[in-house]
Amino acid sequence: MADSQEPTLADFAPDTDEIDITRTIRCKLQTSAAKNELVRQGIDAYQQVAAHMADVLPSYPAYEWNLQNTQMYHQSKRALPDDDTNYKTTLAQMAKNDVVESFTSWRERGQQGESPRGAFGDADYLTLRHDDCQVHENDRGWGLKTSFISYNRVWFHLQPGNYQREFLSRVTDEDDPASAGSCELHFQADGTLYAHLTVTWPVEVYKPEDVTTTVGVDLNDDPLVCMAVVTGDTVETVEMESGSEYRHHRERVKKRRAEAMRQNNLKAVKETRLQYRRYTDHITNVASQRVVETAAAHAPAVINLEELTDYRETAEDPIHDWPFAEIQEKIAYKAREEGIPVQKIDPRNTSVTCRMCGETNPTFRDEREFNCGSCGYEVHADVNAAINIAHGGIS
Ligand SMILES: [Zn+2]
Repeated sequence: MADSQEPTLADFAPDTDEIDITRTIRCKLQTSAAKNELVRQGIDAYQQVAAHMADVLPSYPAYEWNLQNTQMYHQSKRALPDDDTNYKTTLAQMAKNDVVESFTSWRERGQQGESPRGAFGDADYLTLRHDDCQVHENDRGWGLKTSFISYNRVWFHLQPGNYQREFLSRVTDEDDPASAGSCELHFQADGTLYAHLTVTWPVEVYKPEDVTTTVGVDLNDDPLVCMAVVTGDTVETVEMESGSEYRHHRERVKKRRAEAMRQNNLKAVKETRLQYRRYTDHITNVASQRVVETAAAHAPAVINLEELTDYRETAEDPIHDWPFAEIQEKIAYKAREEGIPVQKIDPRNTSVTCRMCGETNPTFRDEREFNCGSCGYEVHADVNAAINIAHGGIS
């Protein structure tokens, strides 16, 4: 759920005044055998009703698919045994609404893709809407008041870490615009219970045309990131994030991987893949954080990124599998939270055009050096490119 909601660069609309940021936080619940049993029964009842509704809904004409339809409600209660009165009302209602909504949106998409039928029946969690789960603060911290059983609210004390605590204090602070939305109750394999709670807050985004400072970001192997902060014709600062540590780490992991494959040690092969993924994740976090912090320090500023083109991704280039796209996605994701717009610019000739005199010539660039044969300007090649990117590319 959290992953599918992450915004991508393509979702980012820099001309919006205000956007909603939504994050899903996972928080452990203090529970008991009795409460776990209630949740377990709740999940089973919900899935049973949802599976039944997903079976019968397609046999009703589409105009009957609405949340107020009492016939649907009675239909949904049929899936539960008569003695299950405690669960019936709320859970049947919840399951029915979820099924009706997902079938309706499927129909509105022209019934493209798979029918939502498969999503109901086997899932191992319970989705609670905002009305059925509320976060409250008390002298012990925070708790979740759930009402998935009619007339019987179940209270769970929350056990947040520092990260979760920050969000919980925001949603219970009346002066903070952050609010909690729906929540899912998940059992881990070991029986611990977690709430996946969505938190939403609005962020003001300034428009690129109202801003004069631009952060141009050039991505490469080493430096991994080169940023130029430019206001009008003035280059305010240039910053670099080294990529050499990352390259060495990759080489070490590649060697270990080749050795493991030679020995046919599949476990070790898998371990090297994980090591590589973790380190890449770490490096792309650090690099993207640095870019967004730089832009925030020069706010209001716009971040300019190069459009990643096919030729760059498929080039006969030893670094073609570097995580350029991943760094860009993370920059966009973090910039969004700060209300910093991100623009993509045409990368053509940004690395072979002199940022001083505007002359374009591939021979001016030699690896890390840029030497303009026209005006004599000399600079690190990535700095020249980052400044061109900050100016919006070469027109
Ligand atoms: Zn020049």
